[in-house]
Amino acid sequence: MKCETVLEKLSLYLDKELTHTEREAIEEHLNECADCYAEFMALKDLVEQLSVLKEVTPPASLRREIYQQVASEVKKQATLGGIDC
Ligand SMILES: [Zn+2]
Repeated sequence: MKCETVLEKLSLYLDKELTHTEREAIEEHLNECADCYAEFMALKDLVEQLSVLKEVTPPASLRREIYQQVASEVKKQATLGGIDC
């Protein structure tokens, strides 16, 4: 497999969206190619950081505040709409 091809498929590899054969070909290449391996590690780090961020959910109190703000915003717009009509 060419470096170009490996790099193209790295994100798919990390997302586990490749076939078994493709994964093996990439793993084989990463074992032999320091450049692609470095790229792989950098991308893996990034993906891990992103997944950590995704797991952070705002506390319930903050969520409620946001919902209330949205609700009052919607109400305000509805009222304005009513006046315009
Ligand atoms: Zn390579």
